[in-house]
Amino acid sequence: MKLYSTNNTDLKVSFQEAVFNSMPQDKGLYMPVEIPKLDQEFIDHIEQYSLPEIAYQIASTLLKDEIPANDLKALIEDAVNFEAPVVELDQQTFVLELFHGPSLAFKDFGARFMSRVMAYFLKEGEQLLDVLVATSGDTGGAVALGFLGVPNTRVTILFPKGKVSDIQRLQLTTNGGNIRAIAVDGTFDDCQALVKQAFSDEELKSRLRLTSANSINIARLIPQTFYYFNAYAQLKRKGFDEVVFSVPSGNFGNIGAGLLAYKMGLPVKQFIAATNANDTVPRFLATGTYETRPSVQTYANAMDVGAPSNWVRIMDMFHNDLALIKQLVRAYRFTDEETLQGMDEIYQQFNYLACPHTAIAYLALKAFAKAKPVANDIAQVFLSTAHTCKFPEVFAGDLKQKITLPAQVQSLREKKEEYVELGKDFEGFQEWMLNKVEL
Ligand SMILES: *Cc1c(COP(=O)(O)O)cnc(C)c1O
Repeated sequence: MKLYSTNNTDLKVSFQEAVFNSMPQDKGLYMPVEIPKLDQEFIDHIEQYSLPEIAYQIASTLLKDEIPANDLKALIEDAVNFEAPVVELDQQTFVLELFHGPSLAFKDFGARFMSRVMAYFLKEGEQLLDVLVATSGDTGGAVALGFLGVPNTRVTILFPKGKVSDIQRLQLTTNGGNIRAIAVDGTFDDCQALVKQAFSDEELKSRLRLTSANSINIARLIPQTFYYFNAYAQLKRKGFDEVVFSVPSGNFGNIGAGLLAYKMGLPVKQFIAATNANDTVPRFLATGTYETRPSVQTYANAMDVGAPSNWVRIMDMFHNDLALIKQLVRAYRFTDEETLQGMDEIYQQFNYLACPHTAIAYLALKAFAKAKPVANDIAQVFLSTAHTCKFPEVFAGDLKQKITLPAQVQSLREKKEEYVELGKDFEGFQEWMLNKVEL
């Protein structure tokens, strides 16, 4: 597999290089030079395969000989060791639950696969790999749990002090081992600025082997195609041949992976990009003008992104053909008010508790179906990106009572929390990174 930079298609790198660099020097994003189609025979009989089998078929088709077959199989079985069930709400409406991994959000797919790919490529005796990640909540937990215990790696997570939910904080601070957490006295943007500066700091770069685990890494994108194909397999078992997917979107990595799956041959009728007030993409599809804005805070805070980093990839996949993208992707935005109503409605109508991000995807699916009735033989699926227990503060009293705590969370409360508090100045962070070298 070769990849190019979206800013310079002449610059080609190996998969391994793209994984460790995360981003090309020219600030483009890595994209596969060629997007191969899955074997049609396989797609026609996909209902016969399990999630790990489907994942292996996709990964080996994309990566070719980057990782030998048996190693890739073992890697996938280790990374994708939880379910992604399609749950039926009514005859034609389904929710794809992506929150059954260790951190209870879909980011587990990307983080677990990426951590294992990095570990695979690390040679014995090589310098310790220092993974830096800034998080507004969900990314940090997935990355921490993804890398926990992975040899020759160490993770440093920066989160905004007091601005993540209890469960999110516990997922960052109770790991010990090779995972370190820093509560930054500032916002998520401050955390991200510190990480960015670290990557351009000569002192840090000369002493540590830094890498980033953010959502633009190609090794996070690829495994997200697995659950789209696997959802289709489940729907085929129920007699459907085509699907509409509604995806709650922030950085547009999730829907980007769906579109990559489509390019690889997944029969999708329509994608729906669902956003909150951070509506750069809905505005772009409506007006043709791409104008990013500073992010605004909403109840669906994992989607509070004003400049979606993966949008470039989607434009690249469709050769900047806006008309084509508009045909395939409809976009809708919803306010906090509407989000709460959506959560309520899903509960009243289907007796199903959905997190705010999931509710936005549901609302978008409904808006789409209202504008353009969906034929009976097409499944309508909205993606559930996180478990409700990660966002209890958003739920009104009566719904909040209904939130259940999965096993992953109950054990968190018994663990010891450990983190350091730092200011948002770079000097303090730099010094800590340089001097607290021992685990
Ligand atoms: C990260 C996240 C999103 C947004 O996904 P993108 O790939 O950034 O579009 C949506 N919901 C939840 C719960 C998330 O954690």
